Amino acid sequence: MNKGLLIVLSGPSGVGKGTVCAALRQKTTDLVYSVSATTRSPRPGEVDGVNYFFKTREEFERMIEQDELLEWAEYVGNYYGTPAKFVQEQLDQGKDVFLEIEVQGAMKVKQKFPDAVFIFLAPPSLAELEKRIAGRGTDDDEVIRRRMQVARDEIKLMEEYDYIVVNDQIDCACRRIMSIIEAEHCRKERI
Ligand code: 5GP
Repeated sequence: MNKGLLIVLSGPSGVGKGTVCAALRQKTTDLVYSVSATTRSPRPGEVDGVNYFFKTREEFERMIEQDELLEWAEYVGNYYGTPAKFVQEQLDQGKDVFLEIEVQGAMKVKQKFPDAVFIFLAPPSLAELEKRIAGRGTDDDEVIRRRMQVARDEIKLMEEYDYIVVNDQIDCACRRIMSIIEAEHCRKERI
């Protein structure tokens, strides 16, 4: 049996990765979505085990020590990481696994899984990105400033990705991502 594809969607915070992922989930039934672990506090409405596995710093550091994470990164003062076992099991069963992660983590995945498909979700502009981050109303001014600072550095790494999708319109971005996945399945190396 062929192994599944590992698809990594990444890009600056606020670009709309979460929204694009939610829309993709509605349109696709054949992708498995990894749930990340984080030390960030839950936002209103977020559920443990659904949006994230919410961990203390001690619990997260134990996961790092025990090599339970496929990748992890510290982002704006919190840890985020992908539980390895689930992803590996799904890939081995031939399922396509979708990771929505920030750029440092994506670069770590690239070292471990060079065959994964790397998609960078880009904002139409930096001004639009700042408007989206501030518009969420979930972060204070200092966090917004830090997220924008990180975003500028992240955009510099766009070159490392296989595909760049501009998120000017959610439906279009979803369609492009689904087309990329279809095309990747047709690669002669994978058949
Ligand atoms: P948020 O706090 O807005 O949910 O997420 C902050 C950033 O962390 C986003 O860019 C999100 O994609 C990223 N992120 C979520 N889960 C993971 C993960 O498992 N690993 C890494 N490296 N980044 C993640």
